[in-house]
Amino acid sequence: MNLPRIDIDLAKIAHNVQQLKKLYGSKGIDIIGVTKVIGGNPIIADVLVQNGIEILADSRIANIIKMRRAGIRAQYLLLRTPALSQVENVVTHTNISLNSELEVLKKLSEYALKNHIIHKVVLMVELGDLREGIMPSEMDAIVKVVLKLKGLALVGIGTNLACFGGISPDEDKMNELSSIAIRLEEKFKITLAMVSGGNSANYKWFTSSKDVGRINSLRVGESIFLGREALCRKPILGLFTDIFTLMAEVIEAKRKPSQPYGTVYQNASGNTPRFKNKGFMDRAVLAIGTQDVVVSGITPKQEIIVLGATSDHMLIDNTKTSLRVGNTVAFNLNYSALLSVFCTPSIVKNTINQYECANIL
Ligand SMILES: *Cc1c(COP(=O)(O)O)cnc(C)c1O
Repeated sequence: MNLPRIDIDLAKIAHNVQQLKKLYGSKGIDIIGVTKVIGGNPIIADVLVQNGIEILADSRIANIIKMRRAGIRAQYLLLRTPALSQVENVVTHTNISLNSELEVLKKLSEYALKNHIIHKVVLMVELGDLREGIMPSEMDAIVKVVLKLKGLALVGIGTNLACFGGISPDEDKMNELSSIAIRLEEKFKITLAMVSGGNSANYKWFTSSKDVGRINSLRVGESIFLGREALCRKPILGLFTDIFTLMAEVIEAKRKPSQPYGTVYQNASGNTPRFKNKGFMDRAVLAIGTQDVVVSGITPKQEIIVLGATSDHMLIDNTKTSLRVGNTVAFNLNYSALLSVFCTPSIVKNTINQYECANIL
């Protein structure tokens, strides 16, 4: 089997999707499957769809095109606010987009009309995390204009927290989004089919609140793939947290000094490193590096210590493991590491426990 590679357990992904759908469904919340962390991998996206996910969301149009070309049947939602230069591709390749700029909305409408399409839009509300979103005080004025844009269908509003500013999507924030939805519906005599409260960071709010108000949708990636909520990164009971395993091969194993010797200048990353002298030690070199993965986001499953990495090599303390050339080392991955692995073609994507549609739902 080619190395380095990532093993992907499809049956565990199916399990997590089913559990999360059941959990959030118990209070009337539908989950949108977010595929950006798996780079729009069609085999994985298919498992989501087979287990009842109807909307797939990604921040990149290229990922959406990849899934559509592979024949994955779903509604496709673009997560990142469309760039003005992208509007034609947004209308052509996606069904729904999250928006915060009137200028872009007008262009989306224009292009949709030209192509006899109605493009669905969700307006994002700023609630304090300070990434994308319209200030609440400006919502009414923008909705008024959007409702007149004939190429668009305003299907909902949404918010995104816990991303840039680390702001918690708590009861207050969710109540605020609900009241905005209710106010807009009454004022403009419209129905907002989707009130999208956030992402994997909304788990704590969801489990602790009896009444979820008008929130009926969440966009979920991390909880599906890593089995964790995204505020404190705690595992969610009943979900698998070990769906992905990164495997790398030992290409050198030797007894060498623990401290580099000679005159110290900058290393490959432009740092001047310092190492403690602990005498001779068992060291090993793995054929994986910063070109392949965000090294700070991976944790070895064996008792090794990662000493550092350059673009193509990882150095480990091999004292407790006595690994030999040709052995493999397994790693768990966090969100950033997973994202990086799926962005690089140099890591083989190896699916295990093939999932076949069980028609459970
Ligand atoms: C990435 C993203 C999500 C999904 O976040 P997770 O923490 O992976 O669930 C949801 N909404 C938007 C706008 C995103 O960019």
